[in-house]
Amino acid sequence: MTYLFHRSLNNTPPAIVGGLGINLWDSAGNTYIDASGGAAVSCLGHGHPAVIAAIKKQVDEIAYAHTGFFTSEPAEKLAANLVQSAPNGLNHVLLVSGGSEAVEAAIKMARQYYIEKGYPQRYNIIARKQSYHGNTLGALATGGNIPRRENFLPLLIQTHHIDPCFYFRYSYDQEDEACYAERAARSLENKILELGPETVMAFVAETVVGATSGAVPAVLDYFKKIREICDRYGILLILDEVMCGMGRTGYQWAFEAEGIQPDICTIAKGLGGGYQPIGAVIATDEIYDAMKLGSGSFQHGHTYMAHPTAAAAALAVQETIQRENLLSAVKERGDYFAQMLRNSLEDLDCVGDIRGRGLLWGVELVQNKKDGNRPFSPSVNLATKLKKTAFKNGLIIYPNSGTINGRDGDHILLAPPFIISHNEIDNVIAILKNSIKETMMDIDN
Ligand code: PLP
Repeated sequence: MTYLFHRSLNNTPPAIVGGLGINLWDSAGNTYIDASGGAAVSCLGHGHPAVIAAIKKQVDEIAYAHTGFFTSEPAEKLAANLVQSAPNGLNHVLLVSGGSEAVEAAIKMARQYYIEKGYPQRYNIIARKQSYHGNTLGALATGGNIPRRENFLPLLIQTHHIDPCFYFRYSYDQEDEACYAERAARSLENKILELGPETVMAFVAETVVGATSGAVPAVLDYFKKIREICDRYGILLILDEVMCGMGRTGYQWAFEAEGIQPDICTIAKGLGGGYQPIGAVIATDEIYDAMKLGSGSFQHGHTYMAHPTAAAAALAVQETIQRENLLSAVKERGDYFAQMLRNSLEDLDCVGDIRGRGLLWGVELVQNKKDGNRPFSPSVNLATKLKKTAFKNGLIIYPNSGTINGRDGDHILLAPPFIISHNEIDNVIAILKNSIKETMMDIDN
């Protein structure tokens, strides 16, 4: 008997009781390798002593105080730490409790910025298909994840979606990456012109698309073109790095690899590494100053923003990443991970594409890669079946079984902790390959 609303109301999952490094174990004694870090959260793995100590110290001092009355040392230090690692101009950090909250705040920041500047007619949001920006209504409206949106459509604010930058699924035959980058970016300009540039507030995109597409980095120069278009029409660029930020791609900020910077960036997941729920929005001086010199406040707030214990945990996570030089480790281990994934899985006909960056990788499953990479019908629920098989075999991977008209297809995400060793990578990939074969055999039967 359970009184808890589980994700699946017909299936109570095993109870987790412990974890260390990349491993987890449940109350029945089963062990699992956490190859997706939950949902790209556990960047330091489980049971990290430095983070546990920081949380205990903070709770001993003061667990919580409301931001209407107080600031706190961990919140101030965390904000400073984030600003020091960010490019010039991104100097202002709002701390919230998770990714969806961060996206909601980013959208409202963009809106208030334009009101302060005297452009209240700017409210349109352009985002991309096959994206995910969270599950609260504003974030859900912004995302392009069709299955998650469809039941709630009447409740969602109107947003506008262009095609993603997803070369594997959206490029034409024979179209090279440079032409594709041009065409994919031009679709933003077309949409801006269609809506009227003076009505558009922001373009929102994941720098590396996570859950709804399976670790899809943009092709070279796409984001440079996007930045140029946003600047030309005075539109804010909001990059959602809730999944891909905080070192996951081998860069502290995933946009560093693109040679651009956003006006606003959202982060969460790896910020606190799962030790506490926390997210953040970082914004430029331009946006902050418009509010500071205008109405003097950001008309937004949550009870738990800048929560001292959550901030202490996140600060310890980020300091550990910096102290142990884990960004280089992500790059080095990510290269090894990619090479082993390709060596091991490329001979499987059902593996259509392997893509990613750093330690964020996606494997796209298709009917037969020698026959046009057609996705399976969503009714097969292939990625979810693979997740279950892998789980039975002691491996945690993150699935997405999408819609066929939206072209999402089936893919799984791999996002192991940054501390994963080469041996552990070999083990993850061996179990994954066996699980894929087992799942395909089940489907054939
Ligand atoms: N944005 C992106 C890119 C995400 O991947 C997610 C979660 O997967 C969110 C926003 C929402 O974050 P949360 O689940 O913490 O609300």
